[in-house]
This record gives sequence, structure tokens and C-alpha cells, in this order.
Amino acid sequence: MDLLEKCRTYTRADEARDVGLYPYYPVFQGPVDGGRAVLEGAEVLMLGSNNYRALSSSPQVIGAAQDAIALYGTSATGSRLLSGNLDLHEELEADLAGFFGYEAALVFATGYMTNLGVVSALAGSGDQVYLDEKAHASLVDGARLAKASGAVVERFGHNDPGDLARQLAAAPTRSVLVATDGVFSLEGSLAPVAELVAVCEEYGATLLVDDAHGVGVFGRGRGVIEQAGMQGRVPLMTLTFSTSLASQGGAVLADAKTIDFLRHTSRPQIFSAGLSPADTAAAHASLREIRRGAEAEPDALMAAEHLRRALDALGFDVAGGSSPVIPVRFPDESAMLAAQRVLVDHGVYTSAVLPPVCEGYQLRIACTDAQSPDALEAAIGVFASVREALLPRYRPAA
Ligand code: PMP
Repeated sequence: MDLLEKCRTYTRADEARDVGLYPYYPVFQGPVDGGRAVLEGAEVLMLGSNNYRALSSSPQVIGAAQDAIALYGTSATGSRLLSGNLDLHEELEADLAGFFGYEAALVFATGYMTNLGVVSALAGSGDQVYLDEKAHASLVDGARLAKASGAVVERFGHNDPGDLARQLAAAPTRSVLVATDGVFSLEGSLAPVAELVAVCEEYGATLLVDDAHGVGVFGRGRGVIEQAGMQGRVPLMTLTFSTSLASQGGAVLADAKTIDFLRHTSRPQIFSAGLSPADTAAAHASLREIRRGAEAEPDALMAAEHLRRALDALGFDVAGGSSPVIPVRFPDESAMLAAQRVLVDHGVYTSAVLPPVCEGYQLRIACTDAQSPDALEAAIGVFASVREALLPRYRPAA
């Protein structure tokens, strides 16, 4: 049996394709900004975009990216350490640090690489890493690398500071990194940041909050740390530019010494080219837009609240908290895939999520500022009209 035998015998995707229910790699023709989108030739309402503030089609953001290309070309062409460091990167880092209230920031090529690069550079032999049970794969993979260099990695119960406290009380070392998502991207719940801060401060652990889905949305755009009133008390914050900042890339925020350490030791930073000029400028322009509108409640939050209530009233099994993400749960894979297909056929796109990405079977709905009240009503109408087709499948008789 050669190495590629596992690929030749891989049938899982084909099984779904064969029955017309394959939900992945949908091909969109044009923007996927949360408004109308064209999916394989047909117009759909996009309820699956993380572009929460609808900035990926903002003229200011597009203009900034175009100007950056005109002035700097299309690529940073090398590692920032040696030849790919642009003033655009440094200016963005200064503004990120200022906006989020940290001494310094470091930009990475993606949010995934940010978490990978931060966790693996900071934790190694003699250190312990505690991850929320449902932490994002990028934190998990960072911890795997940390483990390979000698760190001990543990999990604590999802959003359970009490469990974390019990484990830390028994921990033999004080050199501890605790990492959690700020907003859990599949279930839409918020981490109990204040309680986690209290536990970490009590046990001298260093807390990292990955606020990929909270930035731009909560806490006057500053995310869940500000929302929880914990500014200045979370030593490490990471974020991605691919959600509200309408770009590509990610960043870590910390004190100046930590950022300097990461600049020189984080392998995904050192061994990968700097973020492209267009991506850097787009993220920076989005940050400016978010800062300008920081006092207003995002439309995405109100849209999600409205949609959540409407789906609940229709009898759907809706979970989640008060975030732009609404998970709609199904009892099994075929019911969820069938529902996703029926919705697409009726002009509404939602993301199908199943194990190992999440525990159960769910359609992930994400609201953005781009969804007009009329479009939302139309989507609710579709859910209502296909309700009979969906509900019996996914709510088995008690
Ligand atoms: N952290 C979380 C919580 C995420 O949901 C994601 C993906 N959206 C990432 C990190 C990775 O971000 P990126 O897409 O920039 O790699």
C-alpha cells in the first residue's frame, strides 16, 4: 500500500456528491459580502459570510487596497524579517495597538498563522497550555507544536472557569498559557472573559483571547475584552482580518517586549512572506471605518437577534447567544444536508457544519450589516415555506 492509497479509497465526499447533497466548496461568482451573492449561476441571499461589518465592499476599503497596489505592487515578496517589511505593516500595527489598548501589535499572514505562531513561540518545555475544549483549530494546532517542543497541553471545560481554576490549583508549574476564543464561531457564544481573567490572575497564568469573531462587533468594535470591561487585563489578544476587517491576515496584541520576542522567534512569522500591500491596506481602512462608527450598535447584531427569534418561533432548534452567528441544529447529517440543499434551492445560503468541525450537525447562519430588513424578511419567508419539508426530518416525534 503506497502513501496515496488513502486518497484513492477516500469516498466520504463522493457519497454526498452522489446523492446531490455535497455542501462544500460552493462556487460563488462575485462578492460574498453578506448581501446577495451568485452561487453557481443562481442568486442567493448570503447568510454564511463572516464579513460582519460588510466592509469588504466598502468604497473606502476597496480604494485603500487599490491605492496600495498602485504604490507598492501586488506582493511583499519576502519575509518581513529580511526584505518584506513595509511601512504599511508598521503603521497598521501601531493603529491596532492604539485601538485595542495594547503597547504593540504584530501582523501575520492569516489568523490561523497568528495563533499557531503565538502559541508555539510562547509555550515549550517547562510550560503548560490550557485550552478551552472548543478552542479554534488554530489554537489547538499551536498547542500541538508547543507540545512537540515539550509543553504539557490540557483542556478545560467549555466556557467553564471553575474547571480551569480546579486544574490550575493542582498544576505543578506557574508557567501557564490559557487560551480561548472570544466568540465561539460555530455556536456564537461569548467566552466568560471577566471570570477567566479572575482565575488567570489568581494563579499567575497568562490569558490569550482569540477574538476573531468579536472584533468589530462587540465593545465599540474593540471586541469581547472591552465588552467585559477587562481592558488592560488580558495580556495576549489575537484577531483575524478575514472577518470584520474585510481582508486577509491576522494580528497579535501584547506588551512591547512580548511582541519583540515574537517578531524574532515566531516561525510562521519569520518563514513566511509579509502580508500583501492590498491586504494590509484593506485591513487598515476597515479598522478606520470601525473606529469611526464605533459608538453605533452594528446592524449585524440586530439582524441576528431578529432572525434568531423568527427561526425559533418557526420551530427550528436554534442555539447561540447574542452574536451575529446563529447555529440551527439537526439530529443527523442527512437531515442537515437536505435542509441546506432545500434552502439553497430556494435562494438562501447557509453553511453546513458537521463533525469533526463541530460536535453535532448544524447550519451556521452569520448575519452582517449588509442584510437589509427586506432581505431578512425574504429569508424568514423561505424558512417558513420550507419549514414543513425540514421540520419533520429534523425534529423526530418525541
Ligand atoms: N480563530 C478563529 C476563532 C476563527 O474562527 C478563525 C477562522 N475564521 C481563525 C482564527 C483563522 O482565521 P483566518 O481565516 O484569518 O486564518
